[in-house]
Amino acid sequence: ENRIAAPEYTPADGEIELSLRPRTLGEYIGQEKVKENMRVFIQAAKGRGEPLDHVLLYGPPGLGKTTLSGIIANEMNVNIRVTSGPAIEKPGDLAALLTNLAPNDILFIDEIHRLSRAVEEVLYPAMEDYALDIIIGKGPSARSIRIDLPHFTLIGATTRAGQLTSPLRDRFGVIQRLELYTADELCTIVRRSAGILGVECDPEGAFELARRSRGTPRVANRLLKRVRDFAQVMGDGRITKEIAAIALDRLEIDHLGLETTDRRMLETIIRNYAGGPVGLDTLAAAVGEEAITLEDVYEPYLMQLGFLARTPRGRCATALAYGHLGLKMPGEDAP
Ligand code: ADP
Repeated sequence: ENRIAAPEYTPADGEIELSLRPRTLGEYIGQEKVKENMRVFIQAAKGRGEPLDHVLLYGPPGLGKTTLSGIIANEMNVNIRVTSGPAIEKPGDLAALLTNLAPNDILFIDEIHRLSRAVEEVLYPAMEDYALDIIIGKGPSARSIRIDLPHFTLIGATTRAGQLTSPLRDRFGVIQRLELYTADELCTIVRRSAGILGVECDPEGAFELARRSRGTPRVANRLLKRVRDFAQVMGDGRITKEIAAIALDRLEIDHLGLETTDRRMLETIIRNYAGGPVGLDTLAAAVGEEAITLEDVYEPYLMQLGFLARTPRGRCATALAYGHLGLKMPGEDAP
């Protein structure tokens, strides 16, 4: 089964992803509002000789949160330490990371909504006062000592800003939401990536790829790799509109970028639940995916297309979804 949108990736994908990562704000395509804001904040902080205020970036996976954090470090001329919520198991793990930072360094925590409460509590004084409170001893003789930390910047990334506790969210001075990319922006990204990979790619071939990439640069770059294989084996190596279309059809990605899982979601809502509403967990069980994957990876794009509606009582398929799948809505006359 093809799982182009899924967040996991193989090591080979990972290496390519690294080489395709833009390194400056100028190379970072799209997200104009975010870029403009960050430019100002970076310039102001540099002008004052201070670290950047703490930044929270949120939005669906693969939209460029990690990439943007690397760029911010680059533009600030500071080092970045990259880690993730689940990787920081104990308060001591975070304390070790923090005490090893140099002044103005950036600590990047991906999936920051997954920090444990105990770890999160270490973060509060670190973010607010650049200090660690350490408890020494146990019981009545326990006392707390405060260790100063270098002035650093925390960049947190999350797919779900709503799941952050408010004390944590409130400590970010800058909160920016990344949006799904337009087909034109993705087309620019595909052509840039093709250049880096040394693949010849027609403008129409790039656009075909782009409009089937569900608004997500990571998906676009991954599809580029797959389509390159088809171009090499079935053509002369050049990615044309025809080759791109053939390859994507073979990968079961339709002309709007929906893959098997998207269609299975919509079909399940329509066939098993009369178009909805159906609860997310019920839907996930029926489709055989985790609820969190449906919510973070598949739903944002389906909602942007207007195929899926989230209501208080559950998910509903819209008339547009029926139309796309060639299905009749209840009560609708045969076409
Ligand atoms: P996230 O951290 O949001 O999951 P990443 O930063 O890992 O996403 O981005 C995934 C890939 O998409 C990166 O390897 C990068 O090559 C590409 N990418 C993301 N955003 C952009 C962009 N604005 N311009 C060009 N390429 C991008």
